[in-house]
Amino acid sequence: MTKENKVNRRRFLKAAGATVAGAGAVSTLTPSASAQSHLTIRKQAAIPYKPDVLVVGGGPAGIGAALGAAARGANTLLIEHHAFFGGVAAWCLGMPINQMRPGNKPRSEVHELVLEKLRVYGDQAVRVGQHQLWCNVDYLKVAVLDALDQVGCKYLVHTRAIDAVVEGDRITGVVVATKRGPAVISAKAVVDCTGDADVAYYAGAETMKELGNLSPITLCLNLTNVTGEQVRKANMRDIARKAKKKYPLIPNGWGLGKVSNGSSFYINHAGTRDLGQFDATDPVQRTQAECQSRRQVLQMTLAMREFSGDHLKDIELIGTGTQVGVRETRRVKGPYVLTEEDALTGRKFDDVIAWRSGFLDIGFVRLSKMKIHDVPYRAIIPQKLDGLLMAGRCISATHVAASAGKSMGNCVATGHAAGLAAAMSVKKGCMPRELKVVDLQDALRAEGVDLNRSGDEQKELVNKG
Ligand SMILES: Cc1cc2nc3c(=O)[nH]c(=O)nc-3n(C[C@H](O)[C@H](O)[C@H](O)COP(=O)(O)OP(=O)(O)OC[C@H]3O[C@@H](n4cnc5c(N)ncnc54)[C@H](O)[C@@H]3O)c2cc1C
Repeated sequence: MTKENKVNRRRFLKAAGATVAGAGAVSTLTPSASAQSHLTIRKQAAIPYKPDVLVVGGGPAGIGAALGAAARGANTLLIEHHAFFGGVAAWCLGMPINQMRPGNKPRSEVHELVLEKLRVYGDQAVRVGQHQLWCNVDYLKVAVLDALDQVGCKYLVHTRAIDAVVEGDRITGVVVATKRGPAVISAKAVVDCTGDADVAYYAGAETMKELGNLSPITLCLNLTNVTGEQVRKANMRDIARKAKKKYPLIPNGWGLGKVSNGSSFYINHAGTRDLGQFDATDPVQRTQAECQSRRQVLQMTLAMREFSGDHLKDIELIGTGTQVGVRETRRVKGPYVLTEEDALTGRKFDDVIAWRSGFLDIGFVRLSKMKIHDVPYRAIIPQKLDGLLMAGRCISATHVAASAGKSMGNCVATGHAAGLAAAMSVKKGCMPRELKVVDLQDALRAEGVDLNRSGDEQKELVNKG
């Protein structure tokens, strides 16, 4: 458990001269009257949207939440600090979006809408595997926009949540940074899909983070000018062993995966595993991880060119992710915390709102079989704070249990449930925690979610992730 969530940033901002707008005046930040302050806000942005449901973070979970809420008719805004939606799916180039269609059967209307929009762009955009979608990420980025447009979801990119507005025990908005300065976006319900639980943390909800035990961080890369035959002949462990002295940052070995429907290859690898622990929410450690990882990618490429004999001597680096892929940081503590045992035994819960399938996979540290298991509603709401739900990587789970549900299709599923719950609670005029779970379950079933999957062993698992 981290102590950092105890720091009340709202009070800090106030003490420093900035006022986070309170009840009734929540559309703009009030600039400080004190010119002495070291945190005076001089410019404010005006955001033209007044959403009922605000989804923060546009990765797999945020996409699921935004589509789930907007398709239900809620006035929904999705905000994202990068220039595009997709999160890890968009910057871990070439990776399969796992568990989107286990057994190649539809998982929900939300999952299917993303697939439908990808299919519009043909074979280059997507190929469906036994449970995964193999995507070209640049088609994915546009297909997500098409899906959001179809359900009438508004969205903003280059908009980063930097604080929360809390009134009593309830979150009522989020402070964002834009090119015109900060602004407050108020909402009746907020869904934290930042992966890092940023919103929950800013709002003072209890978060969990296992420092010293964090999963590795990885910058994925794309390569070309090599054939499948050459890749098969190259021995990566051998290359890594020979090259280690000259290129000390490289991992102990890696594999090249063919990018679906393309001629290039991608590498997902152990990243920072052997370089130390990096907390991606710490500005200094995050910088170290990003910079080390960029050096690591060049060293891996040079190692392949110089130490593979003839096999990979002409291999070319095409590009890397927009940022490193972060597997684990903070998770929000809910009334229930999912455990490793829940994943291994395929546990059922009465308040099931989603299920998670795939492997228990602490990236390049541990890979175990697990059973399909339920996610209870109590794992997607915080223990105390009202008005907030969370989805994806930051739901209430232990370090090991978090790794059991990290496949992107599962994140879309918890996002779908959280978005739908946000929309339904707004419509009923109640807090998300007051929503009758049976009503949410009925609504999920009506949107194609089978809530009786827990306990199943998955037969079709061929890819981890
Ligand atoms: C290296 C790596 C390899 C993986 N391999 C696979 C694989 O092969 N297949 C698979 O299915 N899964 C894989 N996973 C797991 C999977 O990608 C993640 O579990 C999943 O993406 C988590 O989804 P999310 O939406 O919760 O978070 P993310 O994908 O991290 O998305 C969070 C989004 O929120 C945005 N955001 C963050 N903070 C803020 C803020 N303060 N304000 C506004 N926006 C914000 C981010 O820019 C991002 O778009 C991998 C993960 C990693 C890191």
